[in-house]
Amino acid sequence: MLQERREMVIEKLESRMKYEEQNYFFQCSNGCEGRYVFIEAMDYNFICPVCQQGQLVADENKKKVQFLKDSIIKLRNL
Ligand SMILES: [Zn+2]
Repeated sequence: MLQERREMVIEKLESRMKYEEQNYFFQCSNGCEGRYVFIEAMDYNFICPVCQQGQLVADENKKKVQFLKDSIIKLRNL
């Protein structure tokens, strides 16, 4: 039972990790809420739809990917 739960969590983390790895995310340079994939950012002409001023800049998500990787490894070794 616990084993199954763990596998499910690992699976979720892995698909999340792949998603993060395969997509560039864009965020407002003014720090508004919201993340956008490339196509969305393009639709907004790389201008933040929330404040209409900030530029949408590529979000550095390497740290997030690394964190997900670490979590998966930890869960696997439990
Ligand atoms: Zn903004």
